[in-house]
Amino acid sequence: MSKLEDIVNLCKRRGFIFPGSDIYGGMAGTWDFGPLGTVLKRKIMNAWWEFFVEKRDDIYGVDAAIIMNPRTWKASGHTETFSDPLVECMNCKGRFRADKLGDFQADVTKLDLDKALVKCPTCGQHAWGEVRQFNMMFSTHVGAVSDETSEAYLRPETAQGIFTNYKNVVDTIYPNIPFGIAQQGKAFRNEISPRDFIFRCRELEQMEIEYFVHPDTWKENFEKILKECHDFLENKMKLPAEMIHDVEVEGADLAHYSKRTIDVEFDFPIGREELMGIAYRTDFDLNNIARESGKNMEYRDKNTGESFVPHVIEPSFGVERLVMAVLTAAYEEDTVGDSARVVLRLPEELAPYRFCVSPLLKNKPELVEKAKEVYTKLREKYGNVTWDDSGNIGKRYRKQDEIGTPKCIVIDFDTLSDNTVTVRDRDTAEQVRVEIKEL
Ligand code: ATP
Repeated sequence: MSKLEDIVNLCKRRGFIFPGSDIYGGMAGTWDFGPLGTVLKRKIMNAWWEFFVEKRDDIYGVDAAIIMNPRTWKASGHTETFSDPLVECMNCKGRFRADKLGDFQADVTKLDLDKALVKCPTCGQHAWGEVRQFNMMFSTHVGAVSDETSEAYLRPETAQGIFTNYKNVVDTIYPNIPFGIAQQGKAFRNEISPRDFIFRCRELEQMEIEYFVHPDTWKENFEKILKECHDFLENKMKLPAEMIHDVEVEGADLAHYSKRTIDVEFDFPIGREELMGIAYRTDFDLNNIARESGKNMEYRDKNTGESFVPHVIEPSFGVERLVMAVLTAAYEEDTVGDSARVVLRLPEELAPYRFCVSPLLKNKPELVEKAKEVYTKLREKYGNVTWDDSGNIGKRYRKQDEIGTPKCIVIDFDTLSDNTVTVRDRDTAEQVRVEIKEL
């Protein structure tokens, strides 16, 4: 089994992530987070919010609507250009994203596929139709009438909800430049081939910041934000630096709005792939909105008196990819004593449970009562503490190792006389005696 399959199985077995609508045979490209996955995802999102918004005074949060006026997507260029190259195999009728069939760029043509003798991954034949651009926005109808005038889209990125609120934020908060606006939320993309677990989904969650700067200062701000993103990934998500790689995006792969983009890639079990991106979007979006809305998007610097349309640096994180990276870095199989185990070495701040509390024996009421007392106290103090009295102690440890619980606390007969408990460490499997009041 590949490492990806191991992680997918663990996620399903232990209640982290399930295939969406599983009970009805699934819904391609959608995933449901279970009790443990929901906590992990929430902790990741909260850590991001705390790092980029709460702990600093130059970035403000918004929470915009998912369904936006369709003029948003006309102005942003998404109606015209938010597409992937789609190609059909004329033999088996399978449809694929043409640039992912080999080492191609977004402007790949049928000729490129023919020259490289690319075979269909499904039927093995070489019979490609023309490559055409497929728009990835999900459309819907708003209101009771279902015609062209009621057509709207589910947002394919959270960024436009930020840009369309730029003026509201400037006019109400009066921020000093440079400043940022951050948003977390769902986005929807009708991906041609959703794949690789939660790596490429049709319904996803993003965490994005638009950082507004004076045009002359974009270079230093780009470097500053790049550094901050690494700081977050390495020190808050605890992803190993050697698994993170910056890739300068060039040529046809550069998005239509960007003058410079760095894809931050990660060594996923499926290979090195994009984890997040940082794009210099210039004044592209604000100018487009000014044109479409007829509103003035200039910022007036109170200190210098200068008026200008700010330029934008955008760090864009995908929550699912971050969850997958954290799980990838944490997943390990090793042996403790002479027994094999699976262990999720999650950072303590991200683990769904910080502690697991157990009575040594569940049929001894005095042990259960004492254990409940410790459990309640820790829960009040830390939240996210779990209780486990099933099976024998060894089995409980294995289970907690698999879900990444850093410490297991066991109440035994000695506890009753000396108020000490056994604390067992997930990573080293070492056990120490600790007084309850020291926990
Ligand atoms: P890719 O090249 O992998 O399709 P992208 O360059 O289109 O990604 P962006 O538009 O820059 O991605 O989106 C920003 C971030 O959102 C990505 O870095 C990624 O983390 C996340 N993301 C984008 N598309 C998906 C998806 N289909 N499923 C999960 N996460 C996604």
